[in-house]
Amino acid sequence: MTRTAKSSGSFVLVRDLVKEYRLPRTGWRAARPTIRAVDGIDLDLGAGETLGLVGESGSGKSTVARLLVGLVEPTSGQVRMHGHDLMHLRGGELRAHRRNVQMVFQDPYSSFDPTARLVDSIAEPLRTHLGSSKPEQDARVADLLRLVGLDAGYRYRYPNQLSGGQLQRAAIARALAIEPDLVVLDEPVSALDVSTQAQVINLLRDLQARLSTSYLFIAHDLSVVEHVSHRVGVMYLGRIVESGPTEEVYERPVHPYTSALLDAVPVPDPVVQRRRRRLKLAGDTAGGTRPSGCRFRNRCPFAMAICAEVDPAPYVTQAGVTVRCHLHEHGPKLAGRSVRTLTGTGTASS
Ligand code: ADP
Ligand code: MG
Repeated sequence: MTRTAKSSGSFVLVRDLVKEYRLPRTGWRAARPTIRAVDGIDLDLGAGETLGLVGESGSGKSTVARLLVGLVEPTSGQVRMHGHDLMHLRGGELRAHRRNVQMVFQDPYSSFDPTARLVDSIAEPLRTHLGSSKPEQDARVADLLRLVGLDAGYRYRYPNQLSGGQLQRAAIARALAIEPDLVVLDEPVSALDVSTQAQVINLLRDLQARLSTSYLFIAHDLSVVEHVSHRVGVMYLGRIVESGPTEEVYERPVHPYTSALLDAVPVPDPVVQRRRRRLKLAGDTAGGTRPSGCRFRNRCPFAMAICAEVDPAPYVTQAGVTVRCHLHEHGPKLAGRSVRTLTGTGTASS
């Protein structure tokens, strides 16, 4: 399924973004080690567009989310929105940015004050950013709840009186309260059951069609991201190793990691499931160790000599997918063809 965004031209532009965290000293004389949670990523996001970001736990997805909303400061690199560099925003401009970018978290129960009625939590951005009066806030919150498919009467309830799916709808209502240009959704459906996930995803799509809001939609589950995203980026240990139009990436993955992630998604048909020749990964990313050269090589079934020595530069395929993998220029020289041509799985055409 292809999603076509209403308009193009990126209003969010990220270039070579890096975030390092300093870890506790390991001994009294040792230097404090650092970890590059985000290690030089580029992102482009157009108005009314959804960029899906996927990858295993620890790959740096939440750090990207926090950098975009300004909850943490980048170590280096650029985040531009509407042409303004976030690093240089101060005072009123910074407040305007905060208003324009809202966030939805994985666990709705921990993102609401349990002692406050929903109306007070959802109206909070209306108070701080717009200075709305009490009656204005009340009416707007009622509208917002209806917009996300909840009964307006729920505004007088407390968070624990709603189900997880209902409360996540309320969190979306709060994020949309002051009509931001960008909503960053960090695993917004990961805590919900499958049927509720589908409802919330459909809600997000409907809202985007009506409001032209852009989304950065983060998930560790590829099947979740497929149905919301126009474009998708696959993260591995702080890097985006493959990014491009969603359908292209899902049908013809060009990075072995993407291919393995897709193969790990179960197919509903048990016969097809058993017959599939899956690309399996060795090991995991635990400990966050990053080998020399290509950071994926110690788990890659196609690793070559060059992979230990050279960190792969971005390669752009004819289909407009950017990939960091030596297979496209060395060894079997895929030159943009799918990794699946090497395993004989799925669609082998280029
Ligand atoms: P994801 O959301 O993909 O699971 P995160 O962005 O949460 O990944 O984390 C990426 C890496 O950065 C992990 O190795 C994590 O342990 C580390 N990290 C994240 N936040 C901090 C922090 N505040 N201090 C130290 N390390 C952190
Ligand atoms: Mg996370």
